[in-house]
Amino acid sequence: MTMLLKGGLVLDGEGNPPIAADVAIAGDRIAAVGPNLDVADAETIDASGRIVAPGFIDTHTHDDGVVIADPRMIPKVSQGVTTVVVGNCGIGLAPVSQPRVEGMGLPAISGGAGTFPTFAGYLRAVAAAKPAVNVLALVGHTTVRQEAMGDARRPATAAEICRMESLVEEAMRAGAAGLSSGLYYPDARTAAMAEVVALARVAARHGGLYATHLRDEEDGVVEAMDEAFAIGRAAELPVLLSHHKVGGRRNWGRAFETLAKIAATRRAGQPVLLDVYPYSASSTALMPERCDGSIAVRVAWSGPHPEMNGRDVDDVAAEWGCSRTEAAERLLPAGAIYFMMDERDVRAILAEPTTMIGSDGLPCDAHPHPRLWGSFPRVLGHYARDEKLFPLAEAVRRMTSLAADNLGLAGRGRIRPGAFADVAVFDAARIGSRATFETPAVAADGIELVVVNGAVAWRDGAPGAGGGGRLLRRETEA
Ligand SMILES: [Zn+2]
Repeated sequence: MTMLLKGGLVLDGEGNPPIAADVAIAGDRIAAVGPNLDVADAETIDASGRIVAPGFIDTHTHDDGVVIADPRMIPKVSQGVTTVVVGNCGIGLAPVSQPRVEGMGLPAISGGAGTFPTFAGYLRAVAAAKPAVNVLALVGHTTVRQEAMGDARRPATAAEICRMESLVEEAMRAGAAGLSSGLYYPDARTAAMAEVVALARVAARHGGLYATHLRDEEDGVVEAMDEAFAIGRAAELPVLLSHHKVGGRRNWGRAFETLAKIAATRRAGQPVLLDVYPYSASSTALMPERCDGSIAVRVAWSGPHPEMNGRDVDDVAAEWGCSRTEAAERLLPAGAIYFMMDERDVRAILAEPTTMIGSDGLPCDAHPHPRLWGSFPRVLGHYARDEKLFPLAEAVRRMTSLAADNLGLAGRGRIRPGAFADVAVFDAARIGSRATFETPAVAADGIELVVVNGAVAWRDGAPGAGGGGRLLRRETEA
């Protein structure tokens, strides 16, 4: 289809100030950018007073199942997101030949989509679902570990590591963009660095990157970064620090230390990437040992006690007349939101010019962290416009060209002739997240039109025809 966005202010995605221009879309591409364009038979859309930007790239998601189970992708397209990266934190839906219900991971990301014995099979299912957004997939270390070992809460044998290497090889051949890990979590914690290096080497042979949820994001964050960088050097591939943070009250203020370390590592010649979600609370499984009273912990979902969704563990403990830890035990299996970071650290990480935005939203949670629906509008509205942490054009750059270049997404992340028509049109005065910790599942304000490869994914508060998303591959020059 042909579409003409008339009279908008175009942000090119590279951080340049907005220019008044029309944008013509023909088929899946941007055909022209310039003043007073006139295109025969185009659907003309009045974009006057609106920002026309490249669609946003969510570099860190757990949308593995939802891209198949609900391909309209409303929590994402309603924020202007046109591409999601799945397979993060070491977990994915493939390769999984024996569906596992226990342990962390699958229930949080499957969303009824099931699991897949091969990575190629998973990617075929994504393509067949015709999601509204583009999808780039990583293969998860924990997932291949569980597949190769069964019980993964022990060190792997040489034969098991060999088996893991062949699983990563299959995934990379099928189109994975790299390896992800979640060394913090129980099924990965027992992995030695050498095991991860062996798998990262397979990813590197295929031009992949290594994205990691560090072994420790709290007291031992610097040591965990050392390990991640050592893995990157040994396997010779870029390291992406996922949802970079310093957690735990004792560590508040240490972002300055971790950011200095990233800068020093880069100066020494090693490629380091990072992303962040714009909130000072985290979210993952409910872990009773973390309910020690030092930070507030809120229930995101609970299997046996869904009536407690959205309430603080402290509150539940008071009602039940038991300790916090006991209350947490009784809520399991459950997900939680941890108010564990310092706003100053979040700002320091956001303000670093090489930081990308990754929502880390958990789409299957009953009471999700608001980052699922709000991350991108919150950066644009709250942090850029209201708090003036950086100009709007710079905020958009982090979400578009920076992410596209880091991830190897050729032809994306920019508004220019010949680029893929992934576009977000929004009102800079109104844009903002409406998702809160109390009411998290609410579409953002100010996103008026979202186009993915030329297909309308979101328009005036409702999903469009969608179906424009594609499976993407990481393309590197090497
Ligand atoms: Zn993670």
